[in-house]
Amino acid sequence: MSVRVVARIRPLLKQESASDIIVHAAPAGADPHGAPTVVKIPNPKNDAEQFSFQFNSVYGADATQQQVFDCEVAPTVKHLFNGGDVTLFAYGVTGTGKTHTMRGGKSLADRGVIPRLLSGIFRRGRKVMSSGTHIEVRMSYYEIYNDRVYDLFEPPEKRTAAGLPIRDNGGKSVVVGLTERPCETLKDFETLYDAANINRSTSATKLNAHSSRSHAILCVKLHQTTGETTTVSTASAIDLAGSEDNRRTENNKDRMVESASINKSLFVLAQCVEAISRKQPRVPYRESKMTRILSLGQNNGLTVMILNLAPVRSYHLDTLSSLNFANRTKKI
Ligand code: ADP
Ligand code: MG
Repeated sequence: MSVRVVARIRPLLKQESASDIIVHAAPAGADPHGAPTVVKIPNPKNDAEQFSFQFNSVYGADATQQQVFDCEVAPTVKHLFNGGDVTLFAYGVTGTGKTHTMRGGKSLADRGVIPRLLSGIFRRGRKVMSSGTHIEVRMSYYEIYNDRVYDLFEPPEKRTAAGLPIRDNGGKSVVVGLTERPCETLKDFETLYDAANINRSTSATKLNAHSSRSHAILCVKLHQTTGETTTVSTASAIDLAGSEDNRRTENNKDRMVESASINKSLFVLAQCVEAISRKQPRVPYRESKMTRILSLGQNNGLTVMILNLAPVRSYHLDTLSSLNFANRTKKI
């Protein structure tokens, strides 16, 4: 079991001004050309004082999707083919780049972690096939909204209020009735994934509000068969709900219910990542639906958490609370 915690600071958006930048990437040592592993941010009560947070790696505004793939995703593809499970997720406030990081844009260069993970799997899969191992890739895609699980391969009209049940099956928790689709090429994947993402947004009355309040979990199962033996390993990639303190935003009843379940699942996720990174014997993954379903910390798991940050002052307090969340998970 191991965890990598990295930070990614997004570039300025059009409406933001360079004079409002307060978050910086810095190298850990004295060498100014060293690779950045530290995030610096001023104390909100005293601009002259800087807080520093140490990560396994820090990506600045100029970091490309390709760089994030090479350093964070490519090693997980290797791990997956070695039979281990992988979990990749983006954590941060709405507007900091989680969807950009996980899904990315349409152009080749803009593709995010998820399509690159799949193309990495197919690329390696072709090599492995040519050496006599049979590969099968199957995917499922679901969202967790108000602590209920909904299949994104099913149209929203087919949803039941209670969502899909979870059952324990030989030490693992599985979602019952989840559609699994075989997927042979990147094109197959994109067709399935794009259609499913439409299910995610059309089910909402407020499009963006909904997608930033649900956790979207893509689960890719890799079956490798050599002779009589098949090994199955799982990669999960998650675009999490925004981590902002939802209690502050709107306090009508629906929002309160959403906030309670978002806050709880993010809190448990943080505790699990922390327990794994500190090699504690007890990982509390049974305490929320999301961590129960994820294979986090099982089957030789490798977890990569990308902490998305906005560079500007308007996010100051939210950025600090994100950094504090991740800081607890830092390797000691
Ligand atoms: P979130 O999913 O966390 O709410 P988004 O991924 O939607 O955030 O990002 C917010 C905005 O910032 C979008 O317009 C997105 O295109 C832009 N953005 C985020 N990260 C980057 C990046 N690394 N490079 C360019 N644009 C980015
Ligand atoms: Mg998003």
